[in-house]
Amino acid sequence: MRLLRAIALSFNNIMLEFENLIESLPDFFVENNENSLDIVSIARYENKITLKIKDELNIKHKTHIKFWDQTHTVLYHTLYKSSVFNDRFLYNGTLGIEFSEIFTTFKVWTPIATKVSLCIYKNGLPTKGEESEKFLMNEKNGVWSTKIYKNLKNYYYTYEVTVNSETNEAVDPYAIATGANGIRAAIIDLADTNPPGFKNDKSPVYIKKITDTFLYEISVRDFTIYPNTWIHNKGKYLGLIEKLPDSRKSDSIGIRHIKSFGITHIQLMPIFDFSEESVDELSPRSTYNWGYDPQNYNVPEGSYSSDPTDPLLRIKELKETILKFHKYNLYVNMDVVFNHVYYYPKSNFQKIFPDYYFRFYDDGVICNGSGCGNDIATENLMARKFIIDSIMYWAKEYHMDGFRFDLMGLMDFETINKIKEELNSLNRFIMVYGEGWDLNTNLKKEAKAITSNSYKIPNVAFFNDFFRDSVKGNVFSEKERGYINGNQYLEDQIKNCILGSPNILNSPIQSINYICCHDNLTIWDKLQYTSGELNEDERKEMVKLGYALIITSQGIPFFQSGSEFCRSKAGMENTYSSPDYINWIDWDKRLYNLNLVQYITDFIKIRKKHPAFRFDNYEDAKKHIEFLGYLPSNVVGFLLKDNANGDSFKNIIVYFNPNKRPAKINLPEGSWNLIGTKKTIGEDIIAEVEKEINLESISATVLYRQ
Ligand code: CA
Repeated sequence: MRLLRAIALSFNNIMLEFENLIESLPDFFVENNENSLDIVSIARYENKITLKIKDELNIKHKTHIKFWDQTHTVLYHTLYKSSVFNDRFLYNGTLGIEFSEIFTTFKVWTPIATKVSLCIYKNGLPTKGEESEKFLMNEKNGVWSTKIYKNLKNYYYTYEVTVNSETNEAVDPYAIATGANGIRAAIIDLADTNPPGFKNDKSPVYIKKITDTFLYEISVRDFTIYPNTWIHNKGKYLGLIEKLPDSRKSDSIGIRHIKSFGITHIQLMPIFDFSEESVDELSPRSTYNWGYDPQNYNVPEGSYSSDPTDPLLRIKELKETILKFHKYNLYVNMDVVFNHVYYYPKSNFQKIFPDYYFRFYDDGVICNGSGCGNDIATENLMARKFIIDSIMYWAKEYHMDGFRFDLMGLMDFETINKIKEELNSLNRFIMVYGEGWDLNTNLKKEAKAITSNSYKIPNVAFFNDFFRDSVKGNVFSEKERGYINGNQYLEDQIKNCILGSPNILNSPIQSINYICCHDNLTIWDKLQYTSGELNEDERKEMVKLGYALIITSQGIPFFQSGSEFCRSKAGMENTYSSPDYINWIDWDKRLYNLNLVQYITDFIKIRKKHPAFRFDNYEDAKKHIEFLGYLPSNVVGFLLKDNANGDSFKNIIVYFNPNKRPAKINLPEGSWNLIGTKKTIGEDIIAEVEKEINLESISATVLYRQ
């Protein structure tokens, strides 16, 4: 009779699941903190037994089941999800610190701790000979708190938490500032972190609908660190907004490039504090990491600061960057990683309340859908509260305009909906979107925030891998081609892409159309693998065609920075820890590819001017989009008809010809104004055409008629 698992279902019920159950059961004993608990009843069902116990389990201690000569630990994961647990311990108030110059209050939630002490330090890093001042904290329903009457400004603090007779020092998960490498939280007055003008900073207001946006993904480091630029603050927040020296006015790199390119939203790759093991803030150039390794969720990463030992400076500099972006009429989104932490056994969550914040399988094995050794249990109500609080903090304190959820599919959709709801209360345009991949984790499929559940989170957008892979080939198979690089018979897939992918989503407002991002190969490298036999000019035509597809399809255009000028990562896919010279944006490439950049810039302008490309529902889109027939293989053409979505052009035609040879085709009746060819796109009429047109090889063609 092998016991598979012992699970606490409530404070009075323990379920034992056996591989096989024998007829006459042995005597069971339940022990909690060496106290023997009386069993009042035993219920048997198939291979399971439920023990009802008289006195409640004390979750501050482990519970053991004994029978014969065996001892098994009772798992509490299920109990933590139960309503009886939440009724008792759910806390809706403020956690973290509340600072004033007269006193500071400290609050941390951990119902299973037996002792919590506040430790106050003078230094942000452990220093020889120093001593902390310790204060015992008091517990009420799982919330430990203390109030210290002293001006603690610029001191540091940690919590010493005793759980299961083990004592660990942890950083407050609600910390808003830290010393270098996030080892100690800092006590600061947020009012001291606002650069001049930040209090009155407002996000731009020109975007009304998500389909009006253009997302542009950048990494603080990759964007600024290329050696051959005038950027002085290389690898730093401030490098993103550096003004051009007067002598270099003609140079359009960095922020100037972003401005002229015409995107609306900057999406910053991780800027929350990531782990010291990923990048040592005291020696940031010695290692490289994208930063998908969360450590302190509510603190900006220190390696991007001019001085990571100054807890205020990283906050100030990030705010200054956001302020400047807003001044340039750019919105700022941040990449958030609430699906996993860097290394869970040493995470602050785990030190403070072991196992609560992480998702486990029924047998007690931790879930690893993230591939990073742990998945966060976003469905556990205090974990959900933490995530919502964090998002709201970034939105309110840093004026963030959107959130990109890394591996959103590992999160539960209710949490995502609650986040969207809370953000709506701020009454400004804030985007919520993420990766809706369906990964292995102990969350029912119907509860996941995945693409196939898009109807359950109707105001949240998803990275559209169907679009990505249809256009340029599957990301998991280097050599696989897509529509732009020579794969055949993809017309129907491309038509779905053009409509905003109704085959996989609930609305075009949910479709983030992209061909590459930081993961996987850049579009240029993918083309090297799949079309290396072609000359560079032909591959650039493919890049143009890819961008044309993104820009003219219903949905939300997303671009990886630098791809508009053939960014390469030396043919490498997952470059999360590759050196700077692999990841950086080589700004010299922009100069070599000005024509390409100009073409995409001009195409962005066309989308901005023409609502026909920006429907917010499939119903109307389908009424106004007509696919054209009798076209050569691989050629796709569509008509946006009858002033689609209030467009100033009565009828617009777009043709894509991915073939390496031109294609002569018959036009719909009437005279058409040609405005987009392989070389240029704009509103200037290049020619008036009737009856037929020759579509150039590997090109997008755009025409209109009033
Ligand atoms: Ca860090």
